[in-house]
Amino acid sequence: MTALDQPTLLARVGAVRERIAAAGGDPDAVTLLSVTKGFGPEVAIAAAAAGLVDLGENYAQELLAKAPLLTQSHVRWHFIGRLQRNKVRALAPLVHLWQSVDRFDLGAEIARRAPGASVLVQVNVSDEVQKGGCSPSETPDVVARLVDLGLDVRGLMTVGRTGPPDEARAGFARLRTLADDLELPVRSMGMSSDLEAAVAEGSTMVRVGSALFGPRPSVPGRVPRPR
Ligand SMILES: *Cc1c(COP(=O)(O)O)cnc(C)c1O
Repeated sequence: MTALDQPTLLARVGAVRERIAAAGGDPDAVTLLSVTKGFGPEVAIAAAAAGLVDLGENYAQELLAKAPLLTQSHVRWHFIGRLQRNKVRALAPLVHLWQSVDRFDLGAEIARRAPGASVLVQVNVSDEVQKGGCSPSETPDVVARLVDLGLDVRGLMTVGRTGPPDEARAGFARLRTLADDLELPVRSMGMSSDLEAAVAEGSTMVRVGSALFGPRPSVPGRVPRPR
């Protein structure tokens, strides 16, 4: 990818907000989480300079490498990937919202390292084995146990079914119902390819990478070198 200039990035942000509106969402009520995973720190810096506030990372080592470069900014880091307990301690001072909490022992470690932290419970609504998340049936119990630990459980997160966006819709509707039943306000669902379906089903936060920053240049999990 050539350097990401600010006019290009601002135009893409506008286009994503228009897609949210066209899908029936209120662009002011649907949070745009910019997913910088796989890109070098310069992309996170460009995003912050363009006024984007919420940035998401999947890999602990990438977040740990980028966050120190953005300390002067307004950025709020969201952790959205599979997480091992032994990474929680290093991430704890940096993470604003832990979105991928899918089991009690992980929540317990977060509660230990970052008491009262804000979390989302990740739910697998598509029954695809490769997707993270607890099952819909275990979700109420996981939420209740995390609340008991003193965590601020703000909502639920899911990754839509792979394939045509229409096929992800039923899963998004299921996440919405689950969140409503548990009286949780945040529904983090929808990515570059399926955000319309997610917004139509009541997403309050879309997580968008490639539609903002272009194709990811690097192998996931590896920290790209700044150019
Ligand atoms: C990579 C990723 C995204 C963003 O994906 P794009 O298709 O680039 O928008 C959103 N959520 C999660 C959990 C991801 O891993």
